[in-house]
Amino acid sequence: MVDASVAPRFTRQLGSYSAGLPGPTLVFVGGVHGNEPAGVGAISAVLAELHRERPPLRGSITGFTGNIGALLQDKRYLTHDLNRRWAAAEIARVKAQDPALDTSEQSEQRELLALIEPLMDGASEFMLVDLHSTSSAGLPFSVCGDTLKNRRAALSLPIPLLLGLEESIEGSLCEFVTERGHAAIVVEGGQNRDPGTQTRHEAAIWILLESIGALTRDRIPRIADRARILKDAGRGAPGVIEVTYRHAIRADSQFVMKPGFNNIHTIEHGEELARDRDGAIRAPDDCVLLMPLYQGLGDDGFFLGHAIRRSWLRISALLRKLGFDRVLTWLPGVAEHESRAHALAVSERGLAQLYPHSWFRLFGYRKVRHEAGRMLFVRRRQRP
Ligand SMILES: [Zn+2]
Repeated sequence: MVDASVAPRFTRQLGSYSAGLPGPTLVFVGGVHGNEPAGVGAISAVLAELHRERPPLRGSITGFTGNIGALLQDKRYLTHDLNRRWAAAEIARVKAQDPALDTSEQSEQRELLALIEPLMDGASEFMLVDLHSTSSAGLPFSVCGDTLKNRRAALSLPIPLLLGLEESIEGSLCEFVTERGHAAIVVEGGQNRDPGTQTRHEAAIWILLESIGALTRDRIPRIADRARILKDAGRGAPGVIEVTYRHAIRADSQFVMKPGFNNIHTIEHGEELARDRDGAIRAPDDCVLLMPLYQGLGDDGFFLGHAIRRSWLRISALLRKLGFDRVLTWLPGVAEHESRAHALAVSERGLAQLYPHSWFRLFGYRKVRHEAGRMLFVRRRQRP
């Protein structure tokens, strides 16, 4: 039994496919940023191929378009970034608001919520994949909040994984899904205008359909070619990169990125990266520059990260499974936050200020905030 037909581009519902078999509920979203249309094309192409081939898919796959208003104008967003307003408080505000007062993005978000929430809440196994592309040239990569479930999905793709990027921004669509205890990853397919970006997004979708158990490998058309396309594109970059710094910019920063950087670019200590009203911005150490801003809109200038070994990931997964997370709260000056879930408060005085941040990152505490003489380490909700 096959349901729903495939709709044309830039309609909210791109279509769905199910063979009536039990299994995971999968949602793919493209064009959350309006200058990144490749994901929409990729979802439509995969759905068309599924309807043609009619494989015995376990569960269901549904595709949605993100920011239709911005896509029609080829802009990242019209009023505000649609990928920054998915924190619980913001969602509650939009739901309580009179729709007549919605900004362009709030109305997009209202429609997406009405479609995604019922699918998510009714599913025993749910995954959302948010397909993006970048303004700078460069490699495909994945991004996810650091939960073990997310890691499993992201690491099934043969492209670099950026850990800590999702936590360094507030209110992403993936944060919304991860905080509800489900899996959610971002796939960055390459440069916005590169025709290869859609091809890489399509490859990523098919590989994820296999890794989550929706399709067996023999039912995926040209699976070996598709895996090679992604592997070749990601070659030369570290497999896993831990994001340790976000360079935030404001409208009055006069921020200009130095030309010539790729979206994953190895840099040396002291190298000039950008300029703003205060002068040159230089690399603090030998590290990896990520997602340099080469477009007018956005408040992330660039990110910096360091390569980490897969063995470190395996150690961290094992320690979390064994429940070693709580050892952190035995350290002097460290306590669970009194009101905020999934957060540790660390005194900024005495011995506690010397604890390496890597101890906290090991257990997924990747978001750092300062609050009244304390440092907060926040992580995504963990669920096996
Ligand atoms: Zn994007």
